[in-house]
Amino acid sequence: MLENLRVVDLTQTIGPDTVMWPGSPQPRLETVLTVAHDGFYNRLVSFVEHTATHFDAPVHMVEGTESVDEIGPERLVRPLVMIDISAEVGDDKDAILTLEQVRAFEAEHGRIPAGAAVFLRTGYEDVNTDPVKYGNAGGPLKFPGFGPDAARFLVEERGAAGLGTDTLGIDPGFAEDFVVHRQITFPRGVWHVENLENLKSVPALGAWVVVAPLRLLGGSGSPCRVIALVP
Ligand SMILES: [Zn+2]
Repeated sequence: MLENLRVVDLTQTIGPDTVMWPGSPQPRLETVLTVAHDGFYNRLVSFVEHTATHFDAPVHMVEGTESVDEIGPERLVRPLVMIDISAEVGDDKDAILTLEQVRAFEAEHGRIPAGAAVFLRTGYEDVNTDPVKYGNAGGPLKFPGFGPDAARFLVEERGAAGLGTDTLGIDPGFAEDFVVHRQITFPRGVWHVENLENLKSVPALGAWVVVAPLRLLGGSGSPCRVIALVP
């Protein structure tokens, strides 16, 4: 079976220069043991839970909901839907995924399967090492995201298990109220993955995805490896 699958990594590397959400500390990777001196190579690493390609558990913004360790693996291995709006986004840093675009996607590719991980490709994956282009330029946040109507449709009408994006956040940069996070996804136990990359290498429908956050006790989220399995 595996020989018929293409395995695609959708994960950013974590390093000292990872482009972070504004105000978040940079990851630190400190060598504490070396093979030459100690017989083992080991590092002490530190980063906030929302670093590089990472998982958002509902408790990140809605108190009393699930933390990352409470989300079972059956909710993390899901049919993958990849909606590519990079052509429509162009230079519009405030672009959002609209309900019309979701309907157009289904008209072209077929119905979004129940329980899917729905990942949005805005094209920002191509500039994720450039803080200015990626949206963390010191001024107001600027990057595209899910519009509330599209997110509500995906969650309520298509039963999405999770949403993902190749930008710093599921809500667009301008959305200071985080409507999708606070009102649409997290209250229903729908998770997020942010800062995905390489979405250009997966099809619109037909692949599966494995989303693997660290099982941090009480965690608001975690960096995670995200691997697509493409038939
Ligand atoms: Zn996050």
